[in-house]
Amino acid sequence: MGNWFAAAVLAADGMTEIDAHLFQSPTGIAPVLQVHPTRRCNLACLHCYTSSAPSVSEQLDWNLLSTCVQDAALLGYRQLAVSGGEPLLYKQLPELLSQARALGMLTSITTNGMLATPQRWAQISDFLDVVAVSIDGSEAEHDAMRGQPGAYAKTLAHLAVIRASGVPFGLIFTLTQHNVDSLEFVVQLAAQQGARSVQVHPLTLYGRAAETLADARPDGLELLVALAEAKRLGQQLGVTVHVDAISLQQLHTYHRHLVPSLPVTRLPEVAPILIVQADGAVVPLTHDVNHQLWLGSLHDAPLHLLAPAWMQQGRADLLAQACAQTWDELSQHYHAGQPVAIQNAAVYWYDEVAASTRRHLGMPVMRCVQAA
Ligand code: SF4
Repeated sequence: MGNWFAAAVLAADGMTEIDAHLFQSPTGIAPVLQVHPTRRCNLACLHCYTSSAPSVSEQLDWNLLSTCVQDAALLGYRQLAVSGGEPLLYKQLPELLSQARALGMLTSITTNGMLATPQRWAQISDFLDVVAVSIDGSEAEHDAMRGQPGAYAKTLAHLAVIRASGVPFGLIFTLTQHNVDSLEFVVQLAAQQGARSVQVHPLTLYGRAAETLADARPDGLELLVALAEAKRLGQQLGVTVHVDAISLQQLHTYHRHLVPSLPVTRLPEVAPILIVQADGAVVPLTHDVNHQLWLGSLHDAPLHLLAPAWMQQGRADLLAQACAQTWDELSQHYHAGQPVAIQNAAVYWYDEVAASTRRHLGMPVMRCVQAA
């Protein structure tokens, strides 16, 4: 699955499109705690950036995760976005969602939908604010990406269960360099199925995706076409379509939303998305940010110790500087008085920041904080 929260569902519920862009929401309105509690999955998709599969058993201990969610709420994270692996395979998913709700957080899951049986769905639907269901195009395209004939049909069958529960849902589509033409099919499907929106998320070249689809990351032109198509299809079919990409012009206009001020005083200022991986690693923004900027592992210390230690080590400011540097480099293309290079006409901001951290911060070195 695309593994990102459907920001566009919230857009349909009142966020404007530009709000969604501002918050760059792979995972919704910032700040978001994005949790991957398990890498176990009923599928082994080509584009999976967590390398999840039926044979993988790695998952987060419930007590560690529960403490982390409490800590994150105290740090200012307002949403819990659960992805995977397949979240429905995490035994304590109802407890996880219920706890987040009790802490005042909005809740979401991203799912391939195939395991949304009436019994399992009834356990979680009361604790869910929104659901993102992954669809990769037509039945043939979807099943090819999923590596399983019949996957599309099973997902569609269970969409009825989700719809009947009344939980707002959207579709999430992973954009590659080769599939923008499939977006129309997905938006039409969303309209037919009663989905509130479609979120288009650029392929993340990490995990299995980096091995199987190494040449398929969408370039700036593909992102630009997706933005134009999203606008056209949204108007034509009455479905909110949000692309996790911004044009260079938007980048310039919204500098203050993208580049945190120094010094960073609160974690969510520089990490509006905080990722917790199934192995316990805590990562700001996106999985492929330089490992030097990872906060550490929940197996070494809880989040309420990792976060202040990370700030004190100056890593929050380093990440903010990487945002500023990314903005400067991209902005130069826009201001050079030359025709804007077409491949840079639109960008996925977090990928650009992550690439900048890898370019400028040297070899990845993971540093952990020991529990006091
Ligand atoms: S359904 Fe999602 S988590 Fe499972 S293998 Fe596919 S992309 Fe990965």
